[in-house]
Amino acid sequence: MRQAPATAIAALLAAALLGPASAAEDAPAPPLPPERPEPAGPPPPPPEPQAAGVPVPPERPAEGPPAPAETAPGLAAPTPALAGEGDVPPLPPERPADLDAGQAALPDSPPPTTTEAEEEACRARLKELGAAFEPLPSISEGACGAPRPLRLTGLGGDVAVPSGPTVTCKVAEGLALWSRDVLVAAARAGWSKPLTAIQIGTSYQCRSQNHVAGAKLSEHAFANGVDVAGFVVGKDVTVGVTTQPAGSPEEAFQKAAREGACKSFTTVLGPGSDPSHATHLHLDQRERGKGYRICE
Ligand SMILES: [Zn+2]
Repeated sequence: MRQAPATAIAALLAAALLGPASAAEDAPAPPLPPERPEPAGPPPPPPEPQAAGVPVPPERPAEGPPAPAETAPGLAAPTPALAGEGDVPPLPPERPADLDAGQAALPDSPPPTTTEAEEEACRARLKELGAAFEPLPSISEGACGAPRPLRLTGLGGDVAVPSGPTVTCKVAEGLALWSRDVLVAAARAGWSKPLTAIQIGTSYQCRSQNHVAGAKLSEHAFANGVDVAGFVVGKDVTVGVTTQPAGSPEEAFQKAAREGACKSFTTVLGPGSDPSHATHLHLDQRERGKGYRICE
């Protein structure tokens, strides 16, 4: 079918150029060449993708190695131009984070400060008062802590402090004076018996005031406050801090104890001050301007 028309065309061309007889037989050969170039077109494209694929792999690995190599030494600052831009971003976020931590701690009430000489003088007075105590390692817990805490186990006159609270020397001295000057006499007045123990609950504790989130740090956070939960008079009388029955010896004792605490502590809170102090006396030595005290 194809040969017939091709032959006819070739014959016409041959006849026009060469002649009617010989052109008709030689014509079949020429048509083939023009057909080969057409299929030859597609083959060239395949070689191109192969050629492009080969150069790409070598370029990528070449770019990869240099990048990590520049980043690592960049920390040592040998590559200020290229690696410097990549290293600067990570550093700023770390710095603000540190500043935030510091700023969050500083605005709060600063921890009480005493010099080494003041601390030694305080401990000497504490010994003279007959207190039993031992120095503890300094406490540092974020914004909380105490540089020279003591473990208090006893006060003068054989008054025990069974829980062994962790306190500053100022708090220990306040308790010793309070016991000697107020509590011993109040116990005698109420029961004709000696005061034998002071029951202390919380002493050092890293927390905000009244456990309220965002509030100023409590003096407990500096070992500069204690919560007194009760007293033991003689061997069998326990007086818990609470709203006492009117006219009872417990009421008289607690009233005397609470009012007398204001002489040796700068903060006294108890039942009636607020709901969080309904069952204990909070006593601390917070430093305020002009010797201001809170005595409630
Ligand atoms: Zn307290």
